[in-house]
Amino acid sequence: MLSLPSDTPLSLYLHIPFCTTCCSYCAFYSEPIQAWKEYTNAYIMRLLEEIEQCTGPDRMYDTIFVGGGNPGSLTPEQLASLLRGAQRHGKSREVTIEMNPETFGEHFFPLFSDGLVNRMSMGIQSMDDQLLKRLGRNASRADNLRAITLANSARERYGIELNFDLMVCLPGQTLQMAIDDIHEVLSLADAHHISLYCLTVEEGTELARAVGMQELAVLDEDGQAEMLKGIWNELTLLGFSHYEVSNFCKHEKYCEHNLRYWNISPFLGLGSSAASTLKEKESWYHYTQTQDLRQFSSSTLFSGYEREDLSLVQSVEEYLMMSLRTQWGIEKQLLEDRYGLVFDKTFSSLVGTLDSSWYFDTVQNFSLSEIGLLLLDEIVLRFVMQIPEPLDRPSPL
Ligand code: SF4
Repeated sequence: MLSLPSDTPLSLYLHIPFCTTCCSYCAFYSEPIQAWKEYTNAYIMRLLEEIEQCTGPDRMYDTIFVGGGNPGSLTPEQLASLLRGAQRHGKSREVTIEMNPETFGEHFFPLFSDGLVNRMSMGIQSMDDQLLKRLGRNASRADNLRAITLANSARERYGIELNFDLMVCLPGQTLQMAIDDIHEVLSLADAHHISLYCLTVEEGTELARAVGMQELAVLDEDGQAEMLKGIWNELTLLGFSHYEVSNFCKHEKYCEHNLRYWNISPFLGLGSSAASTLKEKESWYHYTQTQDLRQFSSSTLFSGYEREDLSLVQSVEEYLMMSLRTQWGIEKQLLEDRYGLVFDKTFSSLVGTLDSSWYFDTVQNFSLSEIGLLLLDEIVLRFVMQIPEPLDRPSPL
């Protein structure tokens, strides 16, 4: 059994490691559903057992996110059984399910009509057939058009919130093509949330091989920054607020589940290769599920979760890394209460070395501007290097 805190509300992530095919840029663990179909029932049964052990009248989930992989590889009945299990002691505030266009259909609508899911996140990535092919996606432009339209009718009928994932800085993609994708998606569906990911070349992927062999060329850092600036600007003109480096929403319809990751609030991840961040008293720890889905389904319950306790310095590093991604940035009082660090004392000399166009510094918060977000990795590194060691845990409030 995992060691779960009893005093903190948790969010729940359920990992569904099945996909129709493997995208060329993807480094996540998943298995092709066609070859692994016979394992889905055993996987669901085991996941349900884990959910039941971790859920109770005093352990309900604030938010739930079913991700993958592609949860649409499973049947609506399989997904419904997981979501009923997770909500059997009470409904969660936000329940998101990821769906890929090629497998999404009206047969999933009972998840919405039964109130098991109130938010859908659809991986569109591009509206251009050639780019989709380059990404190794299993959906064509026609699949995307059909799925977006259908997602919108689910919104109209059941009031669910919609997010669409799009990718930018793709080989052969111009700024105008990326902007046209956004306009087209928004013309088809009433979406209040867009996730916009810049292509990264992960080692060991088909994309890395093609780039290494010079079959494909990716943008350099300056080219990426130029394209991102243009797209971010367009989304602002369309009324979206840029609340996290890769996420935009209207009317404060944030992804509440992901906000908990970025705020470092405890969450539980169940399923093959899922990750958790949890907190006991003032100490933080991770669990990583290390088994492939066959081992996960057949070995002793909870046997594949490895625990890593975080030092105070590691906890601060995580907080800095996550908070600087968001529009709220570092909350100075939280930094002091949780980690015993006074922002203006610890980081003032560093802030003095940053260009004033990169950040906003108020009495309560320190956050990055859009120019700063383009330099996120470098700025985070400079903050992390500034953490004093050793660091003493603050006395409980
Ligand atoms: S659908 Fe998602 S998880 Fe599956 S291979 Fe493609 S990017 Fe990876």
